[in-house]
Amino acid sequence: MYTALRLQQKLKRGEAEVVVVSPNAYMTYQPFLPEAAAGSISPRHVVVPLRRVLPNCTIIVGEARSIDHARRVATLTTLASEEEAANRTTANGLDTPRTPLAKNARDAATDAHEPPGSFEMTYDELVLAPGSISRTLPVPGLAEHGIGFKTVEEAIALRNHVLEQMDIASSTRDPELRDAALTYVFVGGGYAGVEALAELADMARYATRYYHNVKADDLKWILVEASDHILPEVGHDMGKYAVRELRARNIDVRLETRLDSCENRVAVLSDGTRFPTRTVVWTAGVKPHPILAATDLPLDKRGRLICTAKLAVDGAEHAWSAGDAAAVPDLAADEPGAECAPNAQHAVRQARVLAENIVASLRGETPRDYRYRYAGSVASLGLHKGVAQVYGRKLKGYPAWLMHRVYHLSRVPTFNRKARVLAEWTLSGLFKREIVSLGSLEHPRAEFELAAGRERSRDV
Ligand SMILES: Cc1cc2nc3c(=O)[nH]c(=O)nc-3n(C[C@H](O)[C@H](O)[C@H](O)COP(=O)(O)OP(=O)(O)OC[C@H]3O[C@@H](n4cnc5c(N)ncnc54)[C@H](O)[C@@H]3O)c2cc1C
Repeated sequence: MYTALRLQQKLKRGEAEVVVVSPNAYMTYQPFLPEAAAGSISPRHVVVPLRRVLPNCTIIVGEARSIDHARRVATLTTLASEEEAANRTTANGLDTPRTPLAKNARDAATDAHEPPGSFEMTYDELVLAPGSISRTLPVPGLAEHGIGFKTVEEAIALRNHVLEQMDIASSTRDPELRDAALTYVFVGGGYAGVEALAELADMARYATRYYHNVKADDLKWILVEASDHILPEVGHDMGKYAVRELRARNIDVRLETRLDSCENRVAVLSDGTRFPTRTVVWTAGVKPHPILAATDLPLDKRGRLICTAKLAVDGAEHAWSAGDAAAVPDLAADEPGAECAPNAQHAVRQARVLAENIVASLRGETPRDYRYRYAGSVASLGLHKGVAQVYGRKLKGYPAWLMHRVYHLSRVPTFNRKARVLAEWTLSGLFKREIVSLGSLEHPRAEFELAAGRERSRDV
């Protein structure tokens, strides 16, 4: 989105056509997900609608399935293309003529190359920046019971789930079920795990005042981290402070510990402890998006696109990348051979340089190197608590939390979003927290199906 925004600003009318392919019609500002889970920001303010901010680009809501850069062809699917494929099959092979999705770029497709439900699009310049996905391990039970924390859907589902577990605990007479419902296990002590746990723990602690039989001390929050520290982004000392701060709030932080299994709703840790639980949140790192392996572009050992400091894919002409998917040399780092870390600070700045470099190369000018000295990091540890290390300066507690809010407010795209987020923070400071679980939003047809089912059985 940031690359397209800058291209939209820099390109002259008719100079090029920009097509953005994204599975969602919005961009997610991930650093706000923990606050969305805690209810401090509404979900729709964590996302930026692409069609609104990119009026001069063509937006295709769909996914790239593979890229044949030698042929300059991307194979895409959209919801519509899958439906069309199904309809074509049922219409006994009668193929309907397809309208171009983008003015010029779409088509040139040779059906021989297209798997069913997909279509091909030709391009001149490729920007491939699909980010990363959760890096899971083959932990028994994880696929069935775990949840990630990378999307707004996951953040909101987790909020609803935690509040629903408190309702279950409040209404059951089974002490084992109650204990499992009030036990929350988070795996991975990076930004996502620590911030999500800290915000949700604060929210749930607050919510207990409205339950007659669930007390704050009944809630069990466990953070499992394989290494001997958390929040490496804020440095060693601040990471240690974060552990002390969380433990002082009765959060069970287990360092040098792994999740071995979560089968049958029991989390078994490598130190031998077992926690019956209905909540396992997996935030143990990320890995490059699998689409990268479905291209003919060069990848490094970790599966990221090998890029030059100009953000061009190394050895491939007219292909560019940035963000978590790209291995970009860190020219500002002191140690030789260092690469930019996968974080929003780099992703956003790289995206802008990348757009300027594309414009430069279209105009026959020289692209420039990406060089940015990492400023440090801020992390929230719940309401009014935080930890930061910025330009070597260490901050903790309220000042760090305030800095976290100010920094991210300045970063979230568009004035509209900034104003809405600020208004929400102000209102939540004046009024009580929202503690309602809208878990049924995830199954909106359930009640109607039940009613229709009853009607049918009466007819029979
Ligand atoms: C909870 C959380 C908190 C974080 N907090 C911070 C923080 O405080 N500070 C910080 O610096 N970083 C933070 N990060 C990390 C930061 O958000 C990422 O480093 C950054 O978003 C990477 O940007 P990106 O553009 O590479 O990838 P993304 O932001 O993941 O964007 C990639 C986009 O590509 C789309 N896509 C994927 N596959 C395809 C496909 N096949 N076809 C088309 N589109 C596709 C995805 O849907 C997505 O929209 C946080 C991350 C999380 C999860």
